[in-house]
Amino acid sequence: MKIALLAGDGIGPEILREAVRVLDVLRSEGLGVETEEALVGGAAYDASGDPLPKATLDLAKSSDAVLFGAVGGPQYDTLPRDKRPEKAILGLRHECDFFANLRPANVFPELADASTLKAEVVSGLDIMIVRELTGDIYFGKPRGISGPKGDRVGFNTMHYTEPQIRRILHTGFKTARARGKRLCSVDKMNVLETSQLWRDIAEEIAPEYSDVALSHMLVDNCAMQLVRNPRQFDVIVTGNLFGDILSDEASMLTGSIGMLPSASLDARGKGLYEPIHGSAPDIAGRGLANPLAMILSMAMMFRYTFGRIDIAARIEKAVRAALAAGLRTADIAVKGIKPCATAEMGTAVAKAL
Ligand code: NAD
Repeated sequence: MKIALLAGDGIGPEILREAVRVLDVLRSEGLGVETEEALVGGAAYDASGDPLPKATLDLAKSSDAVLFGAVGGPQYDTLPRDKRPEKAILGLRHECDFFANLRPANVFPELADASTLKAEVVSGLDIMIVRELTGDIYFGKPRGISGPKGDRVGFNTMHYTEPQIRRILHTGFKTARARGKRLCSVDKMNVLETSQLWRDIAEEIAPEYSDVALSHMLVDNCAMQLVRNPRQFDVIVTGNLFGDILSDEASMLTGSIGMLPSASLDARGKGLYEPIHGSAPDIAGRGLANPLAMILSMAMMFRYTFGRIDIAARIEKAVRAALAAGLRTADIAVKGIKPCATAEMGTAVAKAL
């Protein structure tokens, strides 16, 4: 198992260090894991003038999985777009063809009060959103702004090819098969042709997964159902634009951005694993960051890239044990309990493991 470690900027190095601490426990048991570090994002720009240097890209390509911290910071906001740290993530996704974004939204019972929704609505929530990453209105052509000032037109093209739709739907079905065996395909087929095609293909593929119950939902209804009764869902599969919005909405149901992992997979299961949050420059270097999203991203790596569901489950159990023992970083702290530091949380998870 070869893993590229790309820590990035801000809290990236702090949280990745804790994930490696957990990984070291597994190594000490004899697990054959090889890791190599490389610069990415602002750190890489500072060192070489490029947020995604060739050496970093080569390392990512030659590894089975990438553990990615976070990139970005206010000092880079005025750089030209192609030099900005965020360009590194887009570049990695594009170059490695990471087309499927998996984002779980789980509410650990210990943290049900962190949500802005009532605890009884979200407690025990465990859903997965599978979002397509390479197509849709973000990439379709023509696009642009044209016409004279005062009478300009802005336009984008929603565009999906059949192979793009097929492969993400297969990922959706397979993900549902490995979980609760229910897949909800979200589209806007009442107005959009791309969605009609999407729905037709979903129906066509469904018989290949007779053990998975397929349902369809319009995206506007889905946005509503996610706050009304989120536990009705198991796996949601959807396009790039709808997935962008719905996955952020779902993640906020949990109320704790520092807890949420994600995976971006290619067709063979190779993946980039990262927390959904950014580099949190406001708390960087102060030992305040919650490392659990990073650690849970590593659990996803064992589940989806290495097929080691046993190890993934052990890591997730260790996270729950640390929470059950009362440890809370500042972002998930409750009144009256002294928040713990990043390293304390990482150590507690490693110890529980
Ligand atoms: P952010 O996610 O970094 O931070 C939002 C808020 O959540 C901040 O108050 C932060 O302190 C808090 N937070 C985030 N992660 C936390 C953690 N693990 N523990 C405790 N608190 C945490 O979003 P932002 O402030 O909008 O963006 C900061 C930088 O990150 C920007 O440069 C942005 O472009 C970049 N960014 C990078 C990624 C990525 O690397 N994938 C994703 C989003 C944003």
